[in-house]
Amino acid sequence: MKLENKVLLPESGYYKANLHCHTVISDGELTPEEIKKVYSEQGYSIVAFTDHERYRWHKELDDENFLALAAYETECCDFATGPDCWQDLKTYHLNLFDTDPTQNAEAKAQNLHPARRYGDIAGLNEYIAQMNDLGFLVCYNHPYWSLQDYNDYAGLRGLFAMEIYNHGCEHDGLYGFHPQAYDEMMRAGQKLFALATDDNHDRVPFGDPLNDSFGGWVQIASEKLDYSSVIQSLKDGCFYWSMGPELRGVRVEDGVLKIKTSPVEKIFVILKGRDCYKKLAPRGQTITEAQFPLTGKEGWFRIEVRDGQELYAGSNAYYLADF
Ligand SMILES: [Zn+2]
Ligand SMILES: [Zn+2]
Repeated sequence: MKLENKVLLPESGYYKANLHCHTVISDGELTPEEIKKVYSEQGYSIVAFTDHERYRWHKELDDENFLALAAYETECCDFATGPDCWQDLKTYHLNLFDTDPTQNAEAKAQNLHPARRYGDIAGLNEYIAQMNDLGFLVCYNHPYWSLQDYNDYAGLRGLFAMEIYNHGCEHDGLYGFHPQAYDEMMRAGQKLFALATDDNHDRVPFGDPLNDSFGGWVQIASEKLDYSSVIQSLKDGCFYWSMGPELRGVRVEDGVLKIKTSPVEKIFVILKGRDCYKKLAPRGQTITEAQFPLTGKEGWFRIEVRDGQELYAGSNAYYLADF
């Protein structure tokens, strides 16, 4: 296979985004205005407001430095009664990101949710297809926290992405980082992107280590900070996820994968099959770049890096068939 030269992630031109956020409109503690203020102060330009079962477009928050994405989070479970039932309850949580809030506004305002029948994958996939038709990108959230395994998620269809890291779930049970689920989905033949998110509710104050804001985000490469440009970048996978490190340019040139990062200890390229490519810094040191020749037989690959604080960042999976 001849690999075309390609820029997979540009060196600069990113907007920092939290794509999973709860406010007082559902069970979060902050108002949308407060979210805008605190996230802007931390260098974010984009927040998707994903209140539970409440679709909202906070257009009033938009300005030249901030963009609010219209969204909501829905769930599919057999309703539990009592804390004992909740303790063992499997559930699907899906984030719905609106690609164009000016379309189908009446239908979206109904906060459509899937039938509450856990295990009815066909019914859930019908719901996802319906939401795609309405103009939503659908993300599968935090499988680890949801007590779900491969049998629960491998059959899902119509997903744009799934979470690879969820900061709120990290605090619930070290359930935050679950790259195995993402790899399993792709090894099952799916093609979807990976998001790191906060899922913040802000029930404990900023500064407390258990506060759930500012721990997982995506950096979206977009020419402009406007709704349609940002959505196009999401659809195209022009973004990467992070808990800390930065990817500062990824490209394929003359058959070689070239990666630049902020200082990290490990740069790995995970492949469809078992073997992977890797470069590690000597103990106590850091590296900021790595290059790996591609054979064209990788199937798909994704980049994952880890810094000295044991925080990860990574790319979406790239499919050799697309080169
Ligand atoms: Zn959730
Ligand atoms: Zn949530």
